[in-house]
Amino acid sequence: MGSTQPTGEFGLIAWIRERSTTRGRAALGIGDDCAVLRAKVDADWLVTTDMLMDGRHFRLEHDTPEAVGYKALGVNISDIAAMAGIPFAAVVAVALPREGATELGERIHDGMRPLADRYGIDLVGGDTNAWDGPLVISVTLLGEATGRGPILRSGAKVGDVIFVTGPLGGSLARRHLAPEPRIREALALHRVVPIHALIDISDGLSSDLGHILEESGGLGAILDAEAIPIHADALDASQADGRSPLDHALNDGEDFELCLTIDPCDAERLLASPPAPAVLYRVGEIVAEPGLKLRQADGTVVPLEARGFNHLT
Ligand code: ADP
Ligand code: MG
Repeated sequence: MGSTQPTGEFGLIAWIRERSTTRGRAALGIGDDCAVLRAKVDADWLVTTDMLMDGRHFRLEHDTPEAVGYKALGVNISDIAAMAGIPFAAVVAVALPREGATELGERIHDGMRPLADRYGIDLVGGDTNAWDGPLVISVTLLGEATGRGPILRSGAKVGDVIFVTGPLGGSLARRHLAPEPRIREALALHRVVPIHALIDISDGLSSDLGHILEESGGLGAILDAEAIPIHADALDASQADGRSPLDHALNDGEDFELCLTIDPCDAERLLASPPAPAVLYRVGEIVAEPGLKLRQADGTVVPLEARGFNHLT
């Protein structure tokens, strides 16, 4: 072995290693066969993984590698937020296109690092490959539940009020690459009120609320058309494709806001003084009759089809 700087795969790993931290639970980060994480006695760990592929979740033709890196970590943080947990360590696996692999790997890391720092996440390992195919990036994120436990999708009850944490729709034009994970919001809510069920909106409100209904034993929900917060991007999207802004808000994916259900008494209390930085929009209620319905402006209630994103259809 010479004393020269490593090149290629090992050069990139060394470059990433120099920029990586170990704080919190990381006793040993990048550089050995495994990372070593220190468990807190009695805390449940949360583990989540998400893979992004060029041509499917982003297009390197117009999206920057930094944006892709940000998103790859951001969507995972959003999943930890959706359990009201605290993220602490990530591993990142990349399949880099051979041409310009090192620069691409560095720029992905540059996009990811500020987000990791913002949420106190140590990058403790990964895997680096190059091939003749397109960029694929997979992040696995570990987190910890708070003392009050993780919040599941399965706890919704008849009569619960349904909330979302921000305006929805039209994210695919721009916003989908830059999700702000709702970690602080979820933790603030979890501290002050029993949250019955919680999910992040990645496939669209109609689909993701559908997951809560299904996991909670086959309940139903009525959404109030006039109460759905519609993002300005949904108005732009509507102008472009003629679908209504409400349709975009209900069915577009990748908003990365949270959807939660709460007992009606707690909901009143919460609306009177929402815990910062959480912002809450009351969008409907959980009902016993299975299925998703929409209460229109004139008061009539119509069935609502879940038309959110599904990779296999
Ligand atoms: P091994 O062959 O034992 O799996 P590697 O040579 O793949 O080890 O990786 C060496 C070290 O670098 C490991 O600690 C691994 O977790 C880390 N690593 C590899 N690729 C990345 C990456 N893209 N980002 C962060 N850490 C990485
Ligand atoms: Mg090894």
